[in-house]
Amino acid sequence: MYKPKVKAPDPHLTAFTDTILSRHSVTTVCNESACPNRAECYSRGTATFMILGDTCTRACRFCNVDTGRGAKIDTGEPQRVANAIRDLGLKYVVITSVDRDDLADFGANHFANVVKAVREIAPDTKIELLTPDFRGLKDALDTIISSSPDKLAHNEETVERLSPVIRPQSSYIRSLRVLEYYAMHFKGRIKSSLMAGLGESENELIDTMRDLYSVGVRELTIGQYLQPTPKHYPVKRFYPPSFFEDIKMEALNIGFEAVACGILVRSSYYAEELGNITKDKNNG
Ligand code: SF4
Repeated sequence: MYKPKVKAPDPHLTAFTDTILSRHSVTTVCNESACPNRAECYSRGTATFMILGDTCTRACRFCNVDTGRGAKIDTGEPQRVANAIRDLGLKYVVITSVDRDDLADFGANHFANVVKAVREIAPDTKIELLTPDFRGLKDALDTIISSSPDKLAHNEETVERLSPVIRPQSSYIRSLRVLEYYAMHFKGRIKSSLMAGLGESENELIDTMRDLYSVGVRELTIGQYLQPTPKHYPVKRFYPPSFFEDIKMEALNIGFEAVACGILVRSSYYAEELGNITKDKNNG
């Protein structure tokens, strides 16, 4: 069974990564989402960049990122993100963003500008874009695909029944359609992520996995939902580690090519390793 080789975080390395990120004034989802893996990932010299500001125009009930009006587009951000990636020496990077429903293109062109800047300064770095749904706007999805990242991801987050409660300004079906569009028009593998523990049944989780597979998603991560603050949606169930082993086997049986499941697994957790594994390695 594939498992990332997890090392205890080294506080000096964590601080080093922090310093580089601060020096370039870039935002990470690791910080903004209060990710439980932050010390470990920073210690490995990796981080997930969050572009288009630190304020999201949606208010998902699981998410720790601030909600409000989107900030003015920071035209210097693509270069700063690229410089930080160069200075961290990243071979693989995940870039995501807040939702920007206030912008005509929902932020798609800014994503493309970031990819261009990274390609120019760090041509060997593999880029995974974890995008919003851009409200399903085809022009925006085409802009993302044309920017030629190495992988595309969009998170479904939860099962269909809970989606209107957990992510009220998003849509289960729209997210599926976005993933389907990516799968039809993008050459690389498509990835999505789910949280467990929001009140879904195991059958609902499996149905959701099947829905994702049916539209072309081939990489999947599933982790335990942890309530970031008391005002966020409560955890309805804590699953034992064995649940994640079982659900991973279900995913592989459905046909997913690379799967990571575990209590602390997040969409970008060891993303570089997940991207490199094959179905055989995932099993063996
Ligand atoms: S799992 Fe992802 S979001 Fe969390 S610290 Fe690691 S890179 Fe950042």
